[in-house]
Parts: sequence; C-alpha cells; structure tokens
Amino acid sequence: MRHTQRPRTPTSYTTMPRPQATRVPGRRALCWSAAVLTLLLAGAAAAEPVAAAAGPGKVQVVAALPNLGSIAGAIGGDRIEVTTIATGTQDAHFVDPKPSYIVKLRKADLLLINGLDLEIGWIPPLTQGARSARLLPGGAGYVDCSSGIAVVEIPSTLSRTEGDVHPYGNPHYLTDPLNAVTVAATIAEALKRADPSGAAFYDDNRRAFERRLYESLFGKEVVDLAGGAKLAREAQAGTLDAFLDGTTVAGAPLRARLGGWLGAMQAARGKPVVTYHKDYSYFAARFGIRVVDYVEPKPGIQPSAKHLGELVERLKQGDVKAILTRPYVEHRSTDSLAERTGVSIVTLPIEVGGAPEATDYFKLFDMVTGRIVQALTAAGRTSGG
Ligand SMILES: [Zn+2]
Repeated sequence: MRHTQRPRTPTSYTTMPRPQATRVPGRRALCWSAAVLTLLLAGAAAAEPVAAAAGPGKVQVVAALPNLGSIAGAIGGDRIEVTTIATGTQDAHFVDPKPSYIVKLRKADLLLINGLDLEIGWIPPLTQGARSARLLPGGAGYVDCSSGIAVVEIPSTLSRTEGDVHPYGNPHYLTDPLNAVTVAATIAEALKRADPSGAAFYDDNRRAFERRLYESLFGKEVVDLAGGAKLAREAQAGTLDAFLDGTTVAGAPLRARLGGWLGAMQAARGKPVVTYHKDYSYFAARFGIRVVDYVEPKPGIQPSAKHLGELVERLKQGDVKAILTRPYVEHRSTDSLAERTGVSIVTLPIEVGGAPEATDYFKLFDMVTGRIVQALTAAGRTSGG
C-alpha cells in the first residue's frame, strides 16, 4: 500500500517510501497543522505496543539521518543503541514523521539532528509529539550536529520564498568527509555528557574514527608521513595542493603518495558536473570537481521546461560528462536531459543505506568516489589530472 503525498489520516502511514515523482516544493515542509499533530499523537498512542525494546543500560540515541546514525554507531559502539529515522533512499528534506518514531523519541536520551533546518518539516512534529523537554532545542539531549561546521551558501537574507529549502545555508555538509570529524567530536561530547562513565571509551572511538577517516581520505601512507590532522588543516585551509607538492619525502613530493578517496579523485579533478539538487557543494570543494549547474533552479523546486531547455544548451557544450542525481528525486527531467544530450545520468546516494553497498559512512564514500571517477573519466579523457 502506498500513501498519498501528504498524510491526512492516521491510517495513511505505511512503511513504504514516498512515491518518487510527487516531490512537492519546500512549502510542504512548513505546513504542519495542529490537526496533523493531533493525528500524530493519536497514532503514537496506538503504535506504543510495537515499540522496540530498549537494550538494558544502553544510551538510547535517535539519529534523524543515516549518516549521523553511522557516525554515532562508530563512536558509541555497544554502549549505545541507535535508531535512525530517515532511510538513505529518502529525501532528507521531506520525510514522513511516522508516529512510531514518537514512541522511540520518548525513550531517547539523545536526538542527533543535521540542523540548518534540513529536518524542519518532520523533526519538530516528532519531538513535540514525544513531549520530552530534553529533546527540544536547548534541551540536554538535543544535539545539533551542524555545530562547528563552516556552512557555505548562507543567504544574505533569511528567506523561504519560492520554496527555497536552504534558508540557513547549505545543510548537506556531510558530503565533505572532513566535516564528519567535527560531527564525531560533537557526538562524542554528547555521549560523554549522557554517559560520563563511558568517557574514555567514547574518546578512544572518536580518535579511531578520525584516524580511519584520514586514512580513507588521504591514504595511509601519506597520513603516516605527515599526520592526518596536519593534512586536514591544510585541506581545510585550501593549501593541501601546495603542501603536497612542496613537501619532499625520500626524493619525491608527498603528492606521489596521496591515496584514499582524494588520490582516486585526482583523475576527476577540475571536471564539470551538473547535479540535480544543490547538495554537492561541500563534496565538490573537497574533491575539486566543479558543479556548473543544477537541474533544480532553486533547492526544492522542480525544473520548468524553460530551465530544462537552458540546461540542454549548456550540456551541448560537451564538457559535462555526467549529471549526478539522487535515488529519491523525480527522474523525468534527468531522463529527458540524457535523451536530448547523451550525457550520462549517475544516481548516487548521499546517505548511508542509499545503495546496497553504502553500509556505513566509509563505504558510502568508497562507492561514490569510485562511481564518479568512472563516470567522469570513462569517455572523452579531456583535461584530467
Ligand atoms: Zn538540500
């Protein structure tokens, strides 16, 4: 059974994903009424008996999104039990707040959210329904994981006019793996506050996560030689290229030893792509690809025929080898663009669980970087390197 676009009765809730072709622009996120909340509360009471039993003594963590759940699992290990609300095949801007999650939130010690209003349409109804003061903004269990992130594309004026779903800047910061280091630290601190006797355990796991992330991003050899934190600082300052070229080890520049995701992505550097949604800004900056246009004219707004026509003209220039899209957005526009221009469509998730291989945050980037390199270097090897 599939439900209609907007839930109107408690019986319309199902576990099926939303139909893909009916994504509605951003206003949907803001239209929660008291009536809907009441229905949610009624549904929550009905769903109570099927709630998962909490593990004894474990810190109960609810993660809004799968990437946050994956990072939390790496830090919390067997001291925590993680429940993730959205799936990797759902659009994080538009998730149905099913009443069963209210039940899970009632038992939660911590709620991890992406923040920057990404979950504005579905976390507030759930936390209000759970009636747990500690999970509301400012509460002890409310963890906004955007804390400490250098947010890009912050508009000069706060506005959701015309359905713009990025009113506080680009919320898709976990497409840059270095931002996961910041998020891991935020989660570790929250876990230490919730479970002080596990502090050393969480700190150890955070350090192990950081080390694994640096090795995955830069390659083990260059991390052993230069130190992951040093490489991360250079990358964040935009000086990594100069550092790698200007540092010589055993007669060769450090760049020769660059491995990991960044090493693999060298073949795609500088290459232009079009993305469906404005969700790859952090990824593009980290890995050096160029997003030259978007299928959506504004984040959350489906394209008009006029915009698609302009995109066809742009794609006919021939330099863009791939349109990167997501599993959960409509495919009509990208199918039409591929048909009219011959440019490949690459459907990639940005969340853990968005594809069978993306079983954790590391495997997500293994898959994504591999597929992007393949797509951008498979045909017309123009100016890579
Ligand atoms: Zn977005």
